[in-house]
Amino acid sequence: MVPSHRTQVKYNYTDKTLYVQIQCQYCNKTYKPQGIKKHKASCKKHQQAVREQ
Ligand SMILES: [Zn+2]
Repeated sequence: MVPSHRTQVKYNYTDKTLYVQIQCQYCNKTYKPQGIKKHKASCKKHQQAVREQ
């Protein structure tokens, strides 16, 4: 009987940016640095739209 170790998966988590999360000041959700800018732009609009209602 041979133990199966073929399911071993290697992840490349050396990139620290994968762990960095920035909190959105509008909805308090966390996003990656690559996505926070884009999110903030749309989130800000959304928050303002909600407030106006
Ligand atoms: Zn947000």
